[in-house]
Amino acid sequence: MAITTPRTALDWEYSPAPEATDHIKLRDRYELFVDGTWRPPESGAYEPTINPATEEPLAEIAQANDADVDAAVAAARAALPRWQKLPALERGKYVFRIARLIQERARELAIVESLDGGKPIRESRDVDIPLAAAHFFYYAGWADKLQYGLAGRNVAPMGVVGQIVPWNFPLLMVAWKLAPALACGNTAVLKPAETTPLTALLLAEICQEAELPAGVVNILPGDGATGASLVRHPDIDKIAFTGSTGVGKDIQAATAGRDIGLTLELGGKSANIVFDDAAIDQAVEGIVNGIFFNQGHVCCAGSRLLIQESVAEEVIEKLWRRMGLLRVGDPLDKNTDVGAINSAEQLQRIEALVDAGEREGATRRTVSCDLPDRGYWFAPTLFTDVAPVHKIAVEEIFGPVVSVMTFRTQAEAIEKANATAYGLAAGVWTDKGSRALAVARGLKAGVVWQNTYNQFDPTSPFGGYKESGFGREGGAAGLRPYVRVS
Ligand code: NDP
Repeated sequence: MAITTPRTALDWEYSPAPEATDHIKLRDRYELFVDGTWRPPESGAYEPTINPATEEPLAEIAQANDADVDAAVAAARAALPRWQKLPALERGKYVFRIARLIQERARELAIVESLDGGKPIRESRDVDIPLAAAHFFYYAGWADKLQYGLAGRNVAPMGVVGQIVPWNFPLLMVAWKLAPALACGNTAVLKPAETTPLTALLLAEICQEAELPAGVVNILPGDGATGASLVRHPDIDKIAFTGSTGVGKDIQAATAGRDIGLTLELGGKSANIVFDDAAIDQAVEGIVNGIFFNQGHVCCAGSRLLIQESVAEEVIEKLWRRMGLLRVGDPLDKNTDVGAINSAEQLQRIEALVDAGEREGATRRTVSCDLPDRGYWFAPTLFTDVAPVHKIAVEEIFGPVVSVMTFRTQAEAIEKANATAYGLAAGVWTDKGSRALAVARGLKAGVVWQNTYNQFDPTSPFGGYKESGFGREGGAAGLRPYVRVS
């Protein structure tokens, strides 16, 4: 189909609009948060956390080892009886107070999230932090109504829960984990990701401000070994993990045969499906949001774009033109659409997969833009001529890279969308509600969005099938993993 040239070509020039950081007072060094107080790590080991946009260190972070995990689990166990016995309404008030304090410190939290993780301030300010507060508000409301959320059954907390979160939505993932756990009467030991510990540690300050009883929440920064130690601790009643499928499998093996609860929210290779009757301009915006939001560091990113053959040329041309308008650079600039890649390791992983895509014969287009001299950056990239067996169509890239494939019929779209080891999410773009529902029924994906993408709400359950994991977070379904029912 011929592409019509727009009558006016606007060449927007933006002046920089950097968010001020002078009011952010980070400590030089953060300790472990155990039993309501800050304590040095048993090993004496500290690691810097780096701003991925500048490669400058932001603070030194204590690294928890086995002994620290032991102390944190013991503190959580000791806090459990009193926390459990509190009237549910009172427990809910603590969770509500945490939500209010997140709102009060929202600006600071958003800036720190962008400094530590590289995501655009527009996203941390408008998505991550408000949604984190919303999760605490939502689950605060459930605290005294648990049996209504669980079909009138008697419920009791699981006990001490171990929670491990990744670096792509640091505070939001903490909220997804802690809010339902606390509302259900559990105590928690949480490990943030090595590259993004800061907002979890600020949340520890918030727990202190909220006068949460000591030991109810314990935050243990550290690396993969800290997470592995937490998973293997014998006095844990439930593990909740979000991260890579590889580590998820390791955790499943480590917990096999033990009487503990487990939920895994793992990777994805989600299909965003555009039918020929879709509103194409709207779909293009949804494609951009689906894959370039948070630099593509999103487990449910629409990284496989399936376009109906008759509109493929038009969609690709419009998408490519739109990609050229994305502003890549300083995460703290309010104009920025695509920020820094979270770490040098993640950048290498993206580069390796993109190289594999080229080697295997797909056609690569990467937006040309000025990237800062320092920091970790990857410009938005589009692959066409992609075969379903190519690595870039199979493996999670977790970066701003979209692989385009085409289909002719609805049945072929469903077959191609399901041809993956994962099953986390999908998008369907069509003018017809009946088609959207029929396609959604055929898709093996935990979430299916119609004519939108990457919409999140605390009331809505989220989770996967197949190698994307099991268990649901969010909504009333998100209570279930944190209670024993009888
Ligand atoms: P990981 O799965 O390694 O990290 C997730 C969390 O698990 C981090 O807190 C990590 O600590 C911790 N961890 C690492 N090893 C273990 C272990 N053996 N036992 C318990 N916890 C552990 O993801 P990566 O950071 O290595 O990212 C690799 C790839 O995973 C990405 O390229 C992406 O494809 C995918 N990923 C998917 C996510 C999702 O939301 N589905 C989120 C993050 C990554 P530490 O940070 O110290 O390594």
